[in-house]
Amino acid sequence: MKAELLAIGTELLMGELADTNSPFLASRLPPLGIDLQWATLVGDDPEQLTGAFVRGLERSDVIFTTGGLGPTQDDLTRDCIARALGEETVVDPALVQRLEDIFRSRGTDMPPRNIKQAQLIPSAEAIPNPRGTAPGWWVETKGRIIVAMPGPPVEMQGMWQDEVAPRLLKRDRGQVIVTRNIKTNGLSEALVDELISPWLGRENPYLGIYAKPDGIHLRIIAKATDPENAWAMVRPVETGVVEAMRPHVWGFDDETPEQVVGSLLAAQQKTLAVMETCTGGQLASSITDVPGASAYFKGSVTPYSKEAKVAAGVDASIIEHHGEVSEETARAMAQTVRMTLGTDYGLGITGVAGPTEIEGHPVGLVFVALDDGNQVQVQQHRLPPRRVTIKRRAAAAALIELARVLKGGAMNAGRDD
Ligand code: AMP
Ligand code: MG
Repeated sequence: MKAELLAIGTELLMGELADTNSPFLASRLPPLGIDLQWATLVGDDPEQLTGAFVRGLERSDVIFTTGGLGPTQDDLTRDCIARALGEETVVDPALVQRLEDIFRSRGTDMPPRNIKQAQLIPSAEAIPNPRGTAPGWWVETKGRIIVAMPGPPVEMQGMWQDEVAPRLLKRDRGQVIVTRNIKTNGLSEALVDELISPWLGRENPYLGIYAKPDGIHLRIIAKATDPENAWAMVRPVETGVVEAMRPHVWGFDDETPEQVVGSLLAAQQKTLAVMETCTGGQLASSITDVPGASAYFKGSVTPYSKEAKVAAGVDASIIEHHGEVSEETARAMAQTVRMTLGTDYGLGITGVAGPTEIEGHPVGLVFVALDDGNQVQVQQHRLPPRRVTIKRRAAAAALIELARVLKGGAMNAGRDD
């Protein structure tokens, strides 16, 4: 099933509103075996929008739209679908009744303009929308499907989950698409490319490489007539890639570094404390994104000056001797916070977030130290010289290193610079 998306609204074309509906839908189509081939932003212009439907009906089996179902004059989705199909809109009495009920329950009469939202064409069926006034349209004609959904994300997502996805699931979509995401860290994109080159360049299963703040992700996508066959195509590639990338693989699918660390600490009944400078609390923030983090996370200190580091218990002479950004200071930070809070593990991060150098060290130089109670290991990173990138990547790197150690591996298995 070949599909396309139309995100409708002039505000999207003006850059006033970011289109979040398309990524939502795009990520939900592959599991249904639906091949998304186009995603278009279209303004509230009757000629352009009708043209988009005419083109879509020629080249796609199904067109998903969001937006343009409101009651105002610039909401044109229904009219343009009707024009593209050469059908006439008619007001549906049952839909009028529903709209009148909604407004009555709000204590007002239905504004006359809203009658638009009770329109249908002969090949359209209304899709219920309990979260708003605009019903969707499910249009089926000449072997094509158009699914028109409201613009507000809450209404669109609810309609997708309750109505559209279940209807699509019941149809014979001809194929399924399954994906497996393998998450790695510590190697450059070029090196990853080299290691996995035997599996690259194939169409099915397809292997893609994506650079993210927590490392390089490898996505295997397989299409087949049923899930068993699709997974049978994924498995040998997954085994090969994981083997080639070991020990750089830290997670799969939707896992985040903080989730992986959280599950490992919880399972091993170990505790963690952190002292971070250049990440400004990002590390603690990530750790506490996981529900139940209080079971293993005892706290963090973010000493953003030398005085604060000393107040937090770091030996002043170490900082004086080696500098605030140094292997030794990172080491002392990890040890100090672990001992102060009495945890099994202590993480220390110090580095240069920029934009100016510190103590002659370049922007992006970061030291991550991990104290496991027996020894302290320090890893040095050279990250790209952008503040927010440095914060995110340093925090992710620290968690990934901790995960590696919790799994029984060694630190410093590799570096991403
Ligand atoms: P509409 O159905 O065109 O009147 O859209 C109603 C509202 O939904 C807009 O004002 C936006 O707030 C929201 N909206 C519409 N399209 C999108 C989109 N593609 N992504 C995110 N929000 C949207
Ligand atoms: Mg609109």
